[in-house]
Amino acid sequence: MDGGAIYDILIIGGGINGCGVARDAAGRGYSVFLAEMKDLASGTSSWSTKLIHGGLRYLEHYEFRLVREALMEREVLWRMAPSIIWPMRFVLPHHEGLRPAWLLRLGLFLYDHIGGRKLLPATRTLDMRSDPAGKPLKPLFSRAFEYSDCWVNDARLVVLNARDAADRGAVIRTRTRVTSARRDGAVWTVTVEDSRSRRTETVRAKLLVNAAGPWVDEVLGATLGKNDVHNVRLVQGSHIVVKRKFDDPRAYFFQNRDGRIIFAIPYEEDYTLIGTTDRDYEGEPGAVAITDVEIDYLCEAASEYFAEPVRRSDIVWTYSGVRPLFDDGASKAQEATRDYVLTAEGGGGQAPLVNVFGGKITTYRRLAEAMLEKIGGLIGRRGAPWTGDASLPGGDFPVNGFDREVGKLSAAYPFLDTGHARRLVRLYGTKVPAMLGAARSTADLGQHFGADLWEAEVRYLIEHEWALSAEDVLWRRTKRGLRLTAVEAAALDDFMRGATGRSETAAAE
Ligand code: FAD
Repeated sequence: MDGGAIYDILIIGGGINGCGVARDAAGRGYSVFLAEMKDLASGTSSWSTKLIHGGLRYLEHYEFRLVREALMEREVLWRMAPSIIWPMRFVLPHHEGLRPAWLLRLGLFLYDHIGGRKLLPATRTLDMRSDPAGKPLKPLFSRAFEYSDCWVNDARLVVLNARDAADRGAVIRTRTRVTSARRDGAVWTVTVEDSRSRRTETVRAKLLVNAAGPWVDEVLGATLGKNDVHNVRLVQGSHIVVKRKFDDPRAYFFQNRDGRIIFAIPYEEDYTLIGTTDRDYEGEPGAVAITDVEIDYLCEAASEYFAEPVRRSDIVWTYSGVRPLFDDGASKAQEATRDYVLTAEGGGGQAPLVNVFGGKITTYRRLAEAMLEKIGGLIGRRGAPWTGDASLPGGDFPVNGFDREVGKLSAAYPFLDTGHARRLVRLYGTKVPAMLGAARSTADLGQHFGADLWEAEVRYLIEHEWALSAEDVLWRRTKRGLRLTAVEAAALDDFMRGATGRSETAAAE
């Protein structure tokens, strides 16, 4: 579009909700401009527990609508992106003195039956004295329930939605902050600022989507000039990553004495991810960091179950995020609803604004459909829902076809070791050949940055996935940050500074 054009939709925020809406809208033929002030998924969307789940715990809060919708999404999303989403079995030990076995069984019965489960296996009961899942735990747990949910690479889900949106015509701008938005009758005049050059630019659009996650109220206040805005409750959640605590591919669902639950999940081959916490948060969402109290809480809660305690010294990485929960007035952070709410204003000659409050990664696609329904009513309908059976980039292979894809890749590029081939298919699915091209040996992959990270991958991320810094590559597009030394990461950063200087336009547009 040329500089004077008016976009149909301008989206503030490149988290899962903004990118999901951009993809759906672009696919229906709307012109879309998305502005993300930092990197894609740099907000809450890369700090989650990474589960595509119904949320067994939400049944206790009678959130049946949410749980049903979320459960139904598990197999839809798995089919859309089988590289970055896959089924996982969860082992829930029965703990004497906590929830009774009949209650767990009832919850899991509902879980199995209200969510349109077709491919995921059903719940079963385990004898923890003989099942391998009992081995890393204290011998106190004789019975457990094993049920299904899915795992997602959250940051990549965001980027793949952005990539698909761009492939369908959307303009995706990262490092671009929306600083003000003014209604001129039926059109928004929006000022965006490039966070590196500080250059500002005016963009016009018929409709504004505020998908700024934990910044949603700040955008309403500082950017849109509204007074007394309070729609979301900011709730911090933190995770610790420790050296692998168990070999079993299943994850654990541990109940705590305070009524909360935590997960212990196999992570990035050699690690275990343990989380999360729930505490009200005040302050700038980008500055959130794990507290000592949270570290102690997670270590103690996991040590209640594992035979070998989880110690501070086991921790190799931590991360924290802020949930932007719709403020439903719940007294405890853990009880606040995880459902999403969309509010629209304007229309009838006044340029409309639609805000996103709350939501989960699991329900982002449905949230986008609900958003498009609202948008259709406000600026005119285009297209029909289409995302339910359209693969994300690289996800065009059958749900159980991962090993076959790895086999195909290894046959085409025999110099890749199996671990490397598996990692690449997990991240990029069928797009790996586009990254590796005609390479015949690792020497053809260019500069080596450490672990199994080579220049060919980094260049692909710059050219196709808006990566601009070492952090974008090491902690969001991949998790190679867990493996590279500080010196290696600094060398990558130097390389990227040079490389993105040259390809800045390609990366930003
Ligand atoms: P964000 O990802 O925060 O995106 C908002 C974006 O807006 C940010 O990138 C920000 O930089 C940008 N922005 C803000 N202001 C501006 C501006 N003025 N101009 C331009 N850009 C701007 N959900 C699940 O389904 N499963 C889970 O297992 C799960 N676990 C979770 C665990 C934790 C600890 C937390 C915190 C959340 C978890 N969630 C989970 C919930 C899920 O992560 C969030 O609901 C979701 O990521 C919110 O996405 P979003 O797009 O609304 O917000």
